[in-house]
Amino acid sequence: MDTPESQGISARAAAVPGSATMEITAMANRLRAAGEPVIGYGAGEPDFPTPVHIVEAAQAAAADPRNHHYTPAGGLLELREAVVTKTKRDSGYDVAADQVVITNGGKHAIYAACQVLLDPGDEVLLPAPYWVTYPETIKLAGARPVLLPTTVDSGFQVTVDQLERARTPQTKMLIFVSPSNPTGAVYAPERIRAIGEWAVEHGIWVMTDEIYEHLVYGDVGFASMPVEVPELAALCVVVNGVAKSYAMTGWRVGWLIAPAPVAAAAVRLQSHMTSNVANVTQQATLAAITGPQQSVSDMRAIFDARRRRMYQMLGAMDGIECIEPMGAFYAFPSVAGLLGRDLGGATAKTSLELSAIVLEQIKVAFVPGEAFGAPGYARFSFALADDDLVEGLERLTEFFG
Ligand code: PMP
Repeated sequence: MDTPESQGISARAAAVPGSATMEITAMANRLRAAGEPVIGYGAGEPDFPTPVHIVEAAQAAAADPRNHHYTPAGGLLELREAVVTKTKRDSGYDVAADQVVITNGGKHAIYAACQVLLDPGDEVLLPAPYWVTYPETIKLAGARPVLLPTTVDSGFQVTVDQLERARTPQTKMLIFVSPSNPTGAVYAPERIRAIGEWAVEHGIWVMTDEIYEHLVYGDVGFASMPVEVPELAALCVVVNGVAKSYAMTGWRVGWLIAPAPVAAAAVRLQSHMTSNVANVTQQATLAAITGPQQSVSDMRAIFDARRRRMYQMLGAMDGIECIEPMGAFYAFPSVAGLLGRDLGGATAKTSLELSAIVLEQIKVAFVPGEAFGAPGYARFSFALADDDLVEGLERLTEFFG
């Protein structure tokens, strides 16, 4: 039998599983291409096209020979300065351009931050359910993820007590994300402050992922940890990008904001890995973050309507327990009540099995909690067209009885 080793693959690469969320989306797409009426709740991206003024800026940039060449490895100075202005405008965080590194998506910013800050033997505190990329990125830097489980009962939020219990002399960093993928939870400013103060007290770095900053709903607001706790700035990496706020997942632009020496180390790393983010997409990003912001709130309003519909329909299903998602575009219900039950002649023992049965029998795709370190749960994205959203939820209502 072929093993990764016999195929020449390094132990490091062999240990990395594919992204479960991308796999579910690919499976749903395959079935759809084969003519099956699949409704997919797997997507982690807005279903809208990128706003026209951003696309036009990219078209103009592509026609300008000045953009046919490399940029500085850390990104165009104009864009780094625009990120400074945007950050002050949107979260209130005061930073300088030499703290900003433009990366190939938020994902690459997370990778760079882990490579720059972590050594073998370091421990990284990671609240679970977690976004699939975090543990792999920690491990690729030689460090060890230490999982902090949260449940529907705690609103999927860690407490300072939990962090303190998990802290050891090896603890180097906490990965924090609010609004959260996959849970849709949004932390209150008081809790964010308490966590930030705890990190400062113990000299622990925080990588705070702010990619969903604009997608908060109801009377819940977004709060940025280094703004709540200014002393944290010396130990903080903020990750952000245009993917979710501007429907720009395919353009691959994100950034990190870190203390200047850490940012400089990330630039050195990037200079050997990717050189720089595509010049034209940097120009598109400039248009996105400096141009009119109306499309951001228009998209948020549409997500909000879908969110309320999904929460109401999921909440009414027998066997499902769902807290109201207050951010991002995901609901994360417990499906424990459906396990062991007869479902069209089949029985699921785990949420993973449940997802396979549901896909096979009623052609509805969702991501099982196992992918996020949370068996017994399921992630439903509400970033899909209204009619599909309702149609899939109706199928589920009927199927679960
Ligand atoms: N952070 C979180 C929490 C995410 O959900 C995602 C996208 N799924 C990213 C970062 C990365 O986004 P991108 O690389 O597309 O900018």
